[in-house]
Amino acid sequence: MADDGTGGGPMKIRADIAELLHAGHRDNAIAQRLGACPKTIARHRQALGLPKDTPGRTSHASLEDAFRAHTEPTDDGHLLWTGGYNTGIPTFRHKGRRHSAYPIAYRIGHGREPQGRCRPDCGRPGCVEPAHVDDGPGRARTRATFAAIFGTERSA
Ligand SMILES: [Zn+2]
Repeated sequence: MADDGTGGGPMKIRADIAELLHAGHRDNAIAQRLGACPKTIARHRQALGLPKDTPGRTSHASLEDAFRAHTEPTDDGHLLWTGGYNTGIPTFRHKGRRHSAYPIAYRIGHGREPQGRCRPDCGRPGCVEPAHVDDGPGRARTRATFAAIFGTERSA
């Protein structure tokens, strides 16, 4: 890619992301470690000309891999849960323990531990897309934002 004559300008490459990519880490692991969006990592991978991260390896090295193994992306940007449910909550087993998918999605999407109960906010049934899962304080913020935009909370 020697074409630098276009007007768009090259994307800014973060050295820390590039270093971890070159070290062979996976997109999600890097995103989690640096608190960055996995899409940003994927764009870096592409810009650096590295081969695509391949999900769906057979051994679930990490909890996140196990989580990902039970999901399927949709065309419109959601991530649907294909695993089991326990009282309406997507759950899966990893190393003998049962985990709820929402807090793990939250950690992937936000890079920190959730506060309170995690739920997807997008309204798509079965969605566990990390960017759509919010915790209690996050949902309160979202409601306040909507109230500010539309003037009132939908109550009637
Ligand atoms: Zn969604």
